[in-house]
Amino acid sequence: MWGLLREQGAPHQKKGMRMEDNAEFLLKGRLNGSQRNRVKGLLNMLYTPKELSEEIGIYQDQFYRVYVPLGCPFSRDSQGHYLINGKNFKRWYEENYQKRTLEKGQAYCVSCKKIIVVSNPERKQNGNLVYDCYICPNCGKKVVRFVDAKRKKNDQQKELETH
Ligand SMILES: [Zn+2]
Repeated sequence: MWGLLREQGAPHQKKGMRMEDNAEFLLKGRLNGSQRNRVKGLLNMLYTPKELSEEIGIYQDQFYRVYVPLGCPFSRDSQGHYLINGKNFKRWYEENYQKRTLEKGQAYCVSCKKIIVVSNPERKQNGNLVYDCYICPNCGKKVVRFVDAKRKKNDQQKELETH
């Protein structure tokens, strides 16, 4: 019974998962407040992924599996080891995850680097995070807009009530 409901509740599983993955990646790379503060403190120097992860307080895995695929700036030494400039990383992170004042019906496309007008969101949830997915009208890529925690709770409550 539950399995059935669940399947019915997920009608949006589509092919073409690449953009989907990109959106999911973006979520996985989101930092909490104290981690964001540590990003602000990164210096204009090269860090190894290990050092960078320790500075920020994340698993090194997050760097390789999330930030690299998302296009975070890095260079490689002669042995192929990753090196990340702290300042560049900070700029990149803030550009991708910056809080923006968005009106209703707007979202920020990280590919176009601008605010776009969107409609018909696809509401999704990943752990505690609730977000709306849109397709950018300019570039056709998936765009994510976070839904704040309070609204999420209300929505969940509503969902529970209607079931
Ligand atoms: Zn776009």
